[in-house]
Amino acid sequence: MGLQDRWDAVRERMTLAAQRAGRKPEEITMLAVTKVFPVEVLLEAYSLGMREFGENYVQEFERKFPLVGGCVGARFHLIGHLQSNKAKKAAEMFDVIQTVDSAKLARRLEKAMDVMIEVKLSEEDSKHGAAPEELGELVEAVRATPGLRLTGLMTMPPWSDDAEVARPYFRRLRGLAEHYGLTQLSMGMSHDLEVAIEEGSTMVRVGTALFGSRKALLK
Ligand SMILES: *Cc1c(COP(=O)(O)O)cnc(C)c1O
Repeated sequence: MGLQDRWDAVRERMTLAAQRAGRKPEEITMLAVTKVFPVEVLLEAYSLGMREFGENYVQEFERKFPLVGGCVGARFHLIGHLQSNKAKKAAEMFDVIQTVDSAKLARRLEKAMDVMIEVKLSEEDSKHGAAPEELGELVEAVRATPGLRLTGLMTMPPWSDDAEVARPYFRRLRGLAEHYGLTQLSMGMSHDLEVAIEEGSTMVRVGTALFGSRKALLK
C-alpha cells in the first residue's frame, strides 16, 4: 500500500468514528506525524495534499525546516516536549506549539502564535505536561502572555495496545477543556484515534498508520 492508500484508510476510520459519535467528520483534523522520517516523506505527504504536520524534536526539525519552505499553506506543530532554552528556536520554525507546560516556557516563545497546553494525565514519569491541579493557573498565565493564542489542550495517555485504556484519559481532557472554555482537543494516535474521536477529539496525531513503523529508522 502506498501513502495515498494509507491516508484514505485513515480518513475512512476517522469518518466512521465521527459518524458513530454523531459528529461531522470535517470537525476533525488529521495531523501527519513525520518525526524520525526523512524530509522526503514529509514532502510526499504535502504533494498528496496533507497540510498539518507534527514533529517532536526541535533539533530534527531544524534540519528539515530549510527544505520545507516551498510547502505553501502547510502548518507545522511541535508535539514533543520543549525545553525553555529551545523555545525561541522552536517558535521561529513552528506555527503551533502543542506542548506548553509552564508559564516560563510560554513567555520564552516571544512570538505571536497559536499554542496548546499539554496536560499530564498519566502517572508515567516518561510523560510531560502540566498537572491538572495547576492547569487553571497556567491557562490564565498563557492567556495573559502577549502574542499567544491559547486554542486548546493536548495529552498522551499511557501507552497500551488496547485503545479502550485511553478512553478515560480522553474523557478527562475534554472535561478540562470545557471547564476552561477551550475548544481544540489534540488527542488520539494511530491505534486509538476512533476512541479519541468518540470522546471529542478535534485533532488526531497520526504517524505509524500513514508512514509505517519508525522502529527500523531508529536502529
Ligand atoms: C509519535 C507521536 C504520535 C504518533 O504516534 P503513532 O502511534 O505513530 O500514530 C502522536 N503524538 C505524539 C505526541 C507522538 O510523539
